[in-house]
Amino acid sequence: MRVAILRDSLPGETRVALLPDAVKALSSQGIEFAVEAGVGVHLGATDADYQAAGATIADRESLLGGADVFPSINILSADDQGKLKRGAVIAGFLRPLDEPGTFLPAVQRGATLFAMELIPRITRAQSMDALSSMATVAGYKAVLIAADHLPRMFPLLMTAAGTVPPAKVFVLGAGVAGLQAIATARRLGAVVEAYDVRAAAGEQVKSLGAKFLEVDLGGIETEDKGGYAKELSEEALNRGRDLIAKTCKTADVVIATAQVPGKRSPLLVRRDAVENMKAGSVIVDLAAMNGGNCELTQPGKTIQHGEVTIFAPLNVAASIPVHASQLYSRNMMQFLKLLLAKGQLNLDMNDEIIKGACVAHNGEIVNPRVASTLGAKA
Ligand code: NAD
Repeated sequence: MRVAILRDSLPGETRVALLPDAVKALSSQGIEFAVEAGVGVHLGATDADYQAAGATIADRESLLGGADVFPSINILSADDQGKLKRGAVIAGFLRPLDEPGTFLPAVQRGATLFAMELIPRITRAQSMDALSSMATVAGYKAVLIAADHLPRMFPLLMTAAGTVPPAKVFVLGAGVAGLQAIATARRLGAVVEAYDVRAAAGEQVKSLGAKFLEVDLGGIETEDKGGYAKELSEEALNRGRDLIAKTCKTADVVIATAQVPGKRSPLLVRRDAVENMKAGSVIVDLAAMNGGNCELTQPGKTIQHGEVTIFAPLNVAASIPVHASQLYSRNMMQFLKLLLAKGQLNLDMNDEIIKGACVAHNGEIVNPRVASTLGAKA
């Protein structure tokens, strides 16, 4: 069983799927590792570190055609997928419900694909939860982006020259990224308010010292069995949008993180809400990857609308590559421990984690939701 770690070819990607400490831990289980030369050097993980951990160094072409398993951040390029040997295994962020077409070349080569996004959020899989790891990094960084751009300071300061009031930060969506944004903004001294459709998020928001905004959604079910938010009707969304517009009026910063897996991000901040914001205010739309929470968001761009700046970064975690890679690598290591138990590929489809994360096997899409998304997109 030969596991290969390649440089990620997605433009702007800086993370590495497995760092030397994880390679060392897995090598001791009889797994052979080979890494593309220079794969981690920008993170301070040199080829010598990988060799000391038990890996060999190889060129990309030989790894693509020769290795069995590819722990990855993003899906390999279509060109690279075409070079894989039959039956290769890829595990990474495959965006299976958003862009399932991108991994079809690998499926056609009989690859087995695991999407880190689909690992079920059960207790046993907590150490493999790469979505939470990356959301933690993104929530933290979003606040720093806003603080850096805001023409004000975050904390309340009482000085001989007078009092500086604290910044007001409004967080939309109190999942993992939102909660980390709240904690970070609070540490910087801001006053924080947050909104989420899941009532359960309220306690967590309050425990971080922020105010939770409640909207009467008419008693509808807002949460699915997995703890994720459900897609809301336009009518329910409108009830939230009015409160959001009112709160945006007095906010200095809006951090938007609301998402519904596999769907376009809910549109929560209307144009009029932005136009009524204070001069110099900042919106950081972390939901931009799936369209964004703000009507004016342009995914991947920073725009100025009147006196308001809207950031819509697409890969925030990659801007903190050392810690993002460290967390991801540990999540991946735990997943590989399960997948490559005793040095052999363990495709136990009775295992909830393996079955849940498996998207394709033996040339077929095995996840019904992904199959139906592909059918719908065809
Ligand atoms: P996510 O990225 O899918 O969404 C972010 C937040 O947006 C969520 O809190 C969601 O409720 C909210 N949201 C969606 N639509 C909205 C709307 N119209 N208006 C306002 N808010 C909206 O979420 P996530 O961070 O991946 O977390 C999802 C759930 O999973 C949460 O309940 C979280 O606590 C839970 N979780 C569990 C584990 C575990 O190991 N058990 C780990 C991580 C997260």
